[in-house]
Amino acid sequence: MTDLYDLVVADVRLRGRPDDRVNVAVRGGRIAAMTADRLRGRRELDGEGGLLTPSFVDAHLHLCKVYTLPMIGDEAVRRYATGAMEQAGAAIELASAIKDRYAEGWIYANARRALLEGLGHGVTHVQAFVDTDTRARLEAIRAVLRVREELRGVVDVRVVAFPQDGVLRDPGAGTYVRDAIAMGADVVGGIPWIERTEADARAHTDQMVRLAKEFDRDVAFLVDDAGDPRLRTTELLARTALREGWGGRVTACHARAMRVYPEPYFRELVALCRRAGMAFVMDPHTGSLHLRFADLLAADIPVALGQDDIADAYYPYGRHNMLEVAFLASHIAGPPSFAQMDTLYDMITTHGARVLRLPDYGVAVGRAAHLVVLRAETAHEALRNHAPPRYVISHGRVVAETTEATRLSL
Ligand SMILES: [Zn+2]
Repeated sequence: MTDLYDLVVADVRLRGRPDDRVNVAVRGGRIAAMTADRLRGRRELDGEGGLLTPSFVDAHLHLCKVYTLPMIGDEAVRRYATGAMEQAGAAIELASAIKDRYAEGWIYANARRALLEGLGHGVTHVQAFVDTDTRARLEAIRAVLRVREELRGVVDVRVVAFPQDGVLRDPGAGTYVRDAIAMGADVVGGIPWIERTEADARAHTDQMVRLAKEFDRDVAFLVDDAGDPRLRTTELLARTALREGWGGRVTACHARAMRVYPEPYFRELVALCRRAGMAFVMDPHTGSLHLRFADLLAADIPVALGQDDIADAYYPYGRHNMLEVAFLASHIAGPPSFAQMDTLYDMITTHGARVLRLPDYGVAVGRAAHLVVLRAETAHEALRNHAPPRYVISHGRVVAETTEATRLSL
């Protein structure tokens, strides 16, 4: 029977069309039909009038550090949350100590657990920052590359080889990053703001962007992660990308100093980042400062949200639930409105997809079927509940289902 689809999700709502109920069919991993007509599939799900949207993207997660808070204690987390320059630096030093104990085995188990915890919450795409330096060596990279291969097609992981302690400050880290890329890491990382001098920050940025060019990789940096207006590595990254012809291949994470820049400088920076085709990721729940996402979005610069940390030296909570991250972000995003909730929902879906350069992402016929079916009818309800989706679909296959567990006895 030619019209029998692989999967049909019946009776769902789509974003922006609250009054319509549609049926969505999947074939060969792609959305094959969306119609009010009855469709038949080998497997049929009842959406019960819930919202069907693309599944969630976590654009920035330190995947090698998840669940390590009990191993390291709360001193770093206390300091990092202040947002002050010297405290953020001290937090990185404290957090770094755990890497002396890095071993592929336990990192693999933790990384896998975090990705599966995310999958239950509808996260099918993750950009994972993985420490790659003289202290971490290649233990974390090996662990995460292993779990990436195991979960490919269920949770798709983009691995960033990340020299967390600097490249000049940590001589030899650059070689480890090169090795990690040669082993199959997807993206070249960097963190120039923690270098000791401006010249070192420049050398760090040059080295990593050139490495990315050599291997034809995107770049994802962690920049200006403290409330000090002298931190200017967001600008440095944008200028380097433009000079090296690597515009459109660069993402900046954190960029929290943006909040305290003088207005004229900020305006120039926005124009520069736009010219460089730069994207941003913010994770406001992990600290007291955050980048100016509304101004970036207004300039048509993509801004995604990241879980950033799960129970590690930088943030004590986190369930790898991007609806929860968006919910938390809403509290620092200015006066709530339905429009703002829609924007936050975009930041964990379409903007994340732009950061990760996911081809064919979105709810339309012909696109890849990475979908969630929620027990909510609107973005507002989805954020308010931030509950696990009823169904999670990855590459056209149902990969997670959640049923109600609480029964009230009145
Ligand atoms: Zn981070």
